[in-house]
Amino acid sequence: MSRIIVITSGKGGVGKTTTTANIGMALAKRGHTVAVVDADFGLRNLDLLLGLENRIVYTAVEVIAGHCRLEQALVKDKRQPQLALLPAAQNRMKDAVTPAQMKQIVSELVDKFDFILVDCPAGIEMGFQNAIAAAEEAIIVTTPEIAAVRDADRVVGLLEAHDVKKINLVVNRLKPAMVESNDMMSVEDVQEILAINLLGIIPDDERVIVSTNRGEPLVLSDNLSMAGVAFDNIARRLEGEKVDFLDLRVPQENFFTWLRKKLSAKIV
Ligand code: ADP
Ligand code: MG
Repeated sequence: MSRIIVITSGKGGVGKTTTTANIGMALAKRGHTVAVVDADFGLRNLDLLLGLENRIVYTAVEVIAGHCRLEQALVKDKRQPQLALLPAAQNRMKDAVTPAQMKQIVSELVDKFDFILVDCPAGIEMGFQNAIAAAEEAIIVTTPEIAAVRDADRVVGLLEAHDVKKINLVVNRLKPAMVESNDMMSVEDVQEILAINLLGIIPDDERVIVSTNRGEPLVLSDNLSMAGVAFDNIARRLEGEKVDFLDLRVPQENFFTWLRKKLSAKIV
């Protein structure tokens, strides 16, 4: 049985595509077969984050139009052959895809992959309807900002109305120092408003941006950053493992200073 999970948010720019790429890659690394589906027609960028943009020949639109088979459109990842991308068309026929067609495509992926992750566009228009059409589970990504949380709250309502029963929360771009000085909402504040299960907390980390630009998801790095570990932990929680949340308060850039202090405290 495949698990069909939509990654959504309401607000744009909060990290849906980053989350899809990293969780997809982390699950593949852990031995699962994964299809990541770009449902952001018109603004596709999941291919860029995965560094697969040059390998695209066909997209979901050609599959729907009957111009190619689904297997022809799937792009296998270079580093993790267990991961495949179904690309969205870039700038044509943005509204040509219907929820029924999307459902049809996803149904063809079912049973071929352990996980099917659908990267949702911003907003709650047609693209959103397409992305959630086949989903059985959802991951809501939000940043700890009131505008993003409010949009996320709206999306929770819409998902429930569409019978998506399992809804999990990822809080992205958390800055612990700002939370501590009361300049940013805490994860608890966000959770209190949304009242859904917390699946992961990702720190704000410029390495995420670097990895975006390189087309190399963070979880691929040998030397995992805190954000990379946080994404990997999400994959493990999706598998059902109980993994403690990271203590993000350890300042990353001062990690060695912190470590030295800890060590010397023990020695003295
Ligand atoms: P969405 O798909 O929701 O529109 P993206 O995943 O494209 O959002 O992310 C938007 C921008 O935010 C990208 O430039 C990305 O590198 C950056 N970003 C996402 N998550 C983080 C993070 N945890 N730390 C720093 N930058 C991030
Ligand atoms: Mg996106």
